This record gives sequence, C-alpha cells and structure tokens, in this order.
Amino acid sequence: MLPEVPTAELLFDPACHWVSHWQRGADRSALSRPTPLPRRVKYLIAGLGITGAATALELVLHGVAPDDIAIVEAAHLAFGASGRNAGFVLSFPGAEILDWRRDFGEAGARELIRLNERNRRLVREFVTSQGLWHQPGGSYFLAASQEEGARLRECQVMLEEAGAVGFELRARHLPAGPGFHECIHQPADLGIDPVLYVAALLRASGVGYTPGCMIDRGGIAPGADGLSVETSLGTVLADRLILASNAFSPFIDRHFATRSPVAPARNQVLLARVADAAALERWGDGIYYSNDGYDYWRALPGGLFLLGGGRNHDREVEATWRHEQNPRIMRYLEESLLPRLAGPTATVIHRWQGTLGMSPDGIPMAGDLPDYGGRVSYAVGLSGYGLGFHRVLAEALVGRLVEGKPLGPFAAERLYSPTA
Ligand SMILES: Cc1cc2nc3c(=O)[nH]c(=O)nc-3n(C[C@H](O)[C@H](O)[C@H](O)COP(=O)(O)OP(=O)(O)OC[C@H]3O[C@@H](n4cnc5c(N)ncnc54)[C@H](O)[C@@H]3O)c2cc1C
Repeated sequence: MLPEVPTAELLFDPACHWVSHWQRGADRSALSRPTPLPRRVKYLIAGLGITGAATALELVLHGVAPDDIAIVEAAHLAFGASGRNAGFVLSFPGAEILDWRRDFGEAGARELIRLNERNRRLVREFVTSQGLWHQPGGSYFLAASQEEGARLRECQVMLEEAGAVGFELRARHLPAGPGFHECIHQPADLGIDPVLYVAALLRASGVGYTPGCMIDRGGIAPGADGLSVETSLGTVLADRLILASNAFSPFIDRHFATRSPVAPARNQVLLARVADAAALERWGDGIYYSNDGYDYWRALPGGLFLLGGGRNHDREVEATWRHEQNPRIMRYLEESLLPRLAGPTATVIHRWQGTLGMSPDGIPMAGDLPDYGGRVSYAVGLSGYGLGFHRVLAEALVGRLVEGKPLGPFAAERLYSPTA
C-alpha cells in the first residue's frame, strides 16, 4: 500500500516558512538560472538536491552534452533534505560501520569505507576548486557513554584493517567539557553550506533546471520513441528518467513503498546566537556528532551555533513527510543539549526541520524500476548520510548507464529478489 500523501501543496510549497538557515541565507535568483521545460531530452532527472545535481555533473563528466540533460524540481533548488541538513561531509558515520560488516560482509564493508573516503575526497577537491566557503576542521565522533566508547574502539580497528587513512582514536581530541568518553577524529572531513554546494554542482555541470515542476504519480509511460513523462508543466519525451527524489519517491512509484522502500525520517534543527565567544571557541571549525549520530552540532561564523538531532526521542512521530516542528524534540535540543554545548548565553534564533529518505539498511539504493522497459532509473534512500555518499552513488549509477559497469554495494537488488 502506498503511504498517505499529504497534499502536494504541503509537501512542495515553495513559500514554506520552515526554511533552513542555508535556504534563508541564499539569494535563489543568484544561485541558478531556471530554464523552460524541454519537450524532448535524452536524460531527464527528477529532483534537484545533492543526488540530482551530482548525477547531472557525473553524466557530463562521462561525455554527455549538458543540453542532452534536464532537471525538473517540484519546488526549487535544494528544497528537500539537501537544503536542510547540517552540512557535514563525513567519511565515518559512526558505529553504523559495524552494521555494514553484518549486512555486507567483511569485503562489502571495506568497499563502503573506501567509497566513503573517495566521496569525501571528491567533495573536498570540488569545494576547493570552486572556491566554496567551507569549514576544514575535520569531524569528531564523540562517545556519549562508555558503551559507545567501546563501539568506537571496535570501529577504529575496523577502519585500520580497511586501510582507511587519517582516523585517530584519542582522548586528547576530546573537547573540554563534561560527558564525552572517547573520540574518533578525522581531520580531512569538512563542513559546507549545503545550498551553495548544490548550486555549485549544478553550475559546474552546465545543465538547466526547471523549478516548480513536479512529476505526476502515474504519469510515466514507455512508448516506441521514448518515455512520456507528465509533469505539472507539461509532457516531456525522454530517453531515460532518473529519479533523485529521495524521501518523496514513494509518491512517484509504489516500488519505493514495497521492494526498495524509502521511509521518511524527519529531523529537527535549531540555530542559536552565542554571546560568549569563549563558549564557541572549543568547537573551532570542526563538525561534531555523538549519541550514535543522533545529535550533531557545529559552530558557525558570526557567533552562531547549529544544533540538530534528537530523533531517537520521538522516533514514531518523526516518521513523517510533514513540514512541522516537533516541540518535544526541540525542547530536548534547546533545554538539555544547547546550554551544555554552547553555554548559558546561547539564544535560539531559528528552527527548521527536514525529512530524510531512509533505506532499509542505511545505504543508498540505485537501480531500474521494473515496469518501464528499463528506461526509469533511480538513486534514492540516501538516509542520514547523503553527503557521505552522493558523489560515488552518482558515479556508480552513471557508470552503469553509460559504461555498463556494476552498481556495486548501491545496487538495490541486494534488498529484494528481482524475480520475486
Ligand atoms: C535535518 C537534516 C540534517 C542532515 N544532516 C546531514 C549531514 O550533516 N550530513 C549528511 O551527509 N547528511 C545529512 N542529512 C541527510 C542528507 O541531507 C540527505 O541524505 C541528502 O540531502 C539527500 O539528498 P537527495 O538529493 O537524494 O534528496 P533531497 O535533497 O530530498 O532532494 C530530493 C528533491 O526531489 C524533489 N522531488 C521530489 N519528488 C519530486 C517529483 N515528483 N517531481 C520533481 N521533483 C521532486 C524534492 O522537491 C527535492 O528537492 C541530513 C538530513 C536532514 C533532514
């Protein structure tokens, strides 16, 4: 059964006032130049978040002409999770890598660790070459309990055995202050402005995008001369459609409610102004996460402090696409975590939320939809960690489409039998 759909207006209202710090700061007209919907195109991409933008760039890097690619976006550039996240580009998601070993075996987990590192290298090279603002201070995974500390030690052994470079497990990296037991530090990880990042990927690709253009459910039909794709702005004839619609994918095709399920998981975030500069100094320009990755924070220029997470405090309520704030989680962030991390002068000045598209095992899923003659592909389910995998996911998908290479660990077929 397909999930209950909140109205399209609620999902994609471009005037939605729960915008993120990044979306609020961005002058959209300066970020990208919208283009009219083409009538005919080789590659049509649905969704302009990190996945849609990275896929467009990867197609161009594989020799496809930018004019042969078009992106349609239901709302606007980085409207979804890509414009609402914390901007952490991580090469270690925490103790999840122990689950990778369980789910993908030893070799599969090593391959994911390698892909994760490669992704971080690609992002770092890209932001540097584009002169994009970023915080280069590395990532710090802080254990919130003795048990989590023991898991981190196990992770460090696994990272070393996989040949991952630069990770350090050291008490000396623990920031001053109570409550943390152990820390894995990766100096090469970075923090970005995710909206500027999506705009830069799009710009580097040279591909045009049409905002306010939504692909209709049931509007995709294969024909002799291509795929007919109905959108809210008219019909496009495409050789291939690529869905980069992440959490919203179940509204497009039931495959994402059944065989390759993408489940919504909302996250709450707040921004505080901190008058006491010393209270922020200890965070420098690093990115910090803890408590199995449920809590995350970073200091931003101008005396600002970003704090998100707490989904584990109300997990069932947060399994939704609705753009609403969760007072219970906001209270946890504001009253319990914020004073501890940013001191008593921290005052909340903005709040927002965003919805992740979770895959069953937390690893993105790529493949073809079965009902459209092999003309509809997808890269979805980027889960809580999309900045850690989007470039290598796009490489895998485009590598398969253009060169016939295998999808590797991202193949959605790992989760179901294609013949069942
Ligand atoms: C609060 C929060 C914090 C996070 N922090 C981090 C972090 O620090 N680091 C990290 O790695 N990950 C983080 N994540 C996860 C990360 O943001 C996501 O994994 C990633 O952004 C997913 O990118 P995407 O492009 O696949 O999807 P999205 O960014 O959601 O993009 C999908 C796009 O498709 C469009 N769309 C949907 N349906 C249609 C349709 N029918 N027609 C046309 N367009 C359509 C949507 O409007 C949307 O813009 C966080 C997520 C949230 C919500």
